[in-house]
Amino acid sequence: MPVPPRPRARIAVLGSANMDLVAYTRRAPARGETVTGEAFRTGAGGKGANQAIAAARAGGAVVMLGAVGDDDFGPRLRGALDSAGVDTARLRTVPGASGTAHIVVDGDGGNAIVVVPGANGTVTELADADLHAVAAADTLLLQLELPLAGVLAGALAARRHGVRTVLTPAPVVPLPDELLAATDLLLPNEHEAEALTGRADPHTAARALLDAVPDVVVTLGAKGCLWAARGKEPLTVPAPAAAAVDTTAAGDTFAGALAVALAENRPMPDALTWASAAAALSVEREGAAASMPERAEIDARAA
Ligand code: ADP
Repeated sequence: MPVPPRPRARIAVLGSANMDLVAYTRRAPARGETVTGEAFRTGAGGKGANQAIAAARAGGAVVMLGAVGDDDFGPRLRGALDSAGVDTARLRTVPGASGTAHIVVDGDGGNAIVVVPGANGTVTELADADLHAVAAADTLLLQLELPLAGVLAGALAARRHGVRTVLTPAPVVPLPDELLAATDLLLPNEHEAEALTGRADPHTAARALLDAVPDVVVTLGAKGCLWAARGKEPLTVPAPAAAAVDTTAAGDTFAGALAVALAENRPMPDALTWASAAAALSVEREGAAASMPERAEIDARAA
């Protein structure tokens, strides 16, 4: 008998879309100073769009919820999502500027960033059709680059419909109890885990976060990740060795792939190994969305 096709993981992402405007310069300017840069590039970014594209490349059927502006960047952001196969029918276009990230990369690879939320800042509530899209998903991916009221509306809708919620708490702000109560999996990097708990040791931080949510995965950069769940021994999954050239959006690639694997009902240790393979591939290539691997590449790396 033929094997029935695997149902695609249904992922909704409620989050930001930003145009990254990146200037490369030997030395970042001091206040009041002008320096001549060496190169400039633009690219689709924002944690929401990054996670959506990562999940789509990993094989998910992905719906993006959020907003872009009616400026020149709006269609470009929508187009980047469309060409990755993300459903953007519910992504709003609102009057004014799209979200932008103004990034200065210096000769040492250090950066300074100003993010202007623009259209992302208008997402303070969800329309009925957005709520339906959340309800129809297996997993809702959330980050904190939208207004908290919008994030909370999505999380509560997911909770009402039994949809798994995965929250990347970035940029870090104090998390309201109501949002934590509607979060199934909290996915900070080690810096965010420390900022949330005041504990520098990721194990201690993860344990503290378990008071608020049932599952915590702390990503540890090249060291891999740590999973803590209530009533279980913590598990560390090392990252595969990678020749890192650009770690931009490693965490978002990890989140998108993890959501797909969990929605396919893979056990957490397998899902973490698979997401780690996806993230390792992404750090070996330049760019954010441009560096995110396709499913077959992830399978091969994880094998
Ligand atoms: P963020 O990008 O949010 O700061 P991390 O730096 O913790 O998050 O990276 C997320 C994941 O990406 C890690 O858990 C790991 O799986 C992978 N990763 C990051 N840097 C490397 C690296 N140098 N080599 C291999 N994997 C990496």
